[in-house]
Amino acid sequence: MKSVLTVVGALLIVVITALRVFAPPQLDKGMNVVKPHEPYAISAEARALHDDLFIVDLHSDSLLWDRDLLQESDYGQVDLPRLQRGNVAMQVFSATTKSPTGQNYESNEAGTDTITALAIVQGWPYSAWLSLYGRAEFQLKKLLRLVQDSDGQMLFVRNKADLERLLGERKAGKRTVGAMYLIEGAHPLEGEIDNLDRLHAQGLHFVGLTHFFDNRIGGSLHGVSGEGLTPFGREVIKRADALGMNIDIAHASPQMVRDVLALAERPVILSHGGFKGLCDSPRNLDDALMREVAARGGIIGVGYWDATVCDDSPLGVVRAIRYGIELMGLEHIALGSDYDGTVATTFDTSELAALTQAMLDEGFTEDEIRAVMGGNMQRYLLEQLP
Ligand SMILES: [Zn+2]
Repeated sequence: MKSVLTVVGALLIVVITALRVFAPPQLDKGMNVVKPHEPYAISAEARALHDDLFIVDLHSDSLLWDRDLLQESDYGQVDLPRLQRGNVAMQVFSATTKSPTGQNYESNEAGTDTITALAIVQGWPYSAWLSLYGRAEFQLKKLLRLVQDSDGQMLFVRNKADLERLLGERKAGKRTVGAMYLIEGAHPLEGEIDNLDRLHAQGLHFVGLTHFFDNRIGGSLHGVSGEGLTPFGREVIKRADALGMNIDIAHASPQMVRDVLALAERPVILSHGGFKGLCDSPRNLDDALMREVAARGGIIGVGYWDATVCDDSPLGVVRAIRYGIELMGLEHIALGSDYDGTVATTFDTSELAALTQAMLDEGFTEDEIRAVMGGNMQRYLLEQLP
């Protein structure tokens, strides 16, 4: 009996070790896909302009995966070398902390979760196995460690002084990449408002409200209730305002977006999304609501994947950007890739010059290109950061 147990135990260890080593890269490779394509032709004019831009991307889920982001990988969509080659000046890193099985854009119950298995198989600390707060804190610490280990090539931005330092380094010709932190859904607060203070004290700036399911803050765009802010949700908005944080309305139900716009004192972002009037997808909000977001000073990061833009080529993304400028006004449009967020794209972050090229091809002015690629977010952050 004892020897049987030993064999079973040994087998289990082999299976867990094999899963630990082989499963995460396979999942990452299979879910964060850059579609095969020929290299994009970039003109000398586009290259010169692109190299002179201050580029901000509002949403990447790269912290979710077991990949060294300081090294270039031949899979996934974001790492430091590729951010630098794409001339990205600021990357907002988001934390996914819970995700329902069978996740879809139409309707999800809150009962199931796939991140638990991912956390265990990727060897996250025990504190992040079952606690959603633990998962948010773990990913934030992971980002801070990344910045610390980057030998000055990354800079964590939590206030205006940090941003000004980043702007100075970029102006001096350094390809320093700024990093900010966002929670994708406020369920890691676990219903305790003090947890918002705790994450803020460690560097959280952008507070997403919901992800794919209804939570204690209110209804998701992909949930079942369609409800607006709950009393706890209202408390979160007020506390975020008081702490000088900005709300991310990505994945929020239309009613929740209306409630937030009525209550929040500070302009929101929609970190990754698109326009229903152009691309009629359950992932997008309707044009009238997007105009209200703009009227309250909000900014949308336009996504690069089919559910947000319907045509995921560089030209298709640029046409969505043009649609957004006409709908909301130039100063309200930014980039929100959702890289490494289990989406397939036609270019990774090192290939962002393809967007600059497509904008030039579509007759965008230099001022328009500068604003969309990051100028708008630079202005917004200079106004909003404490
Ligand atoms: Zn998302």
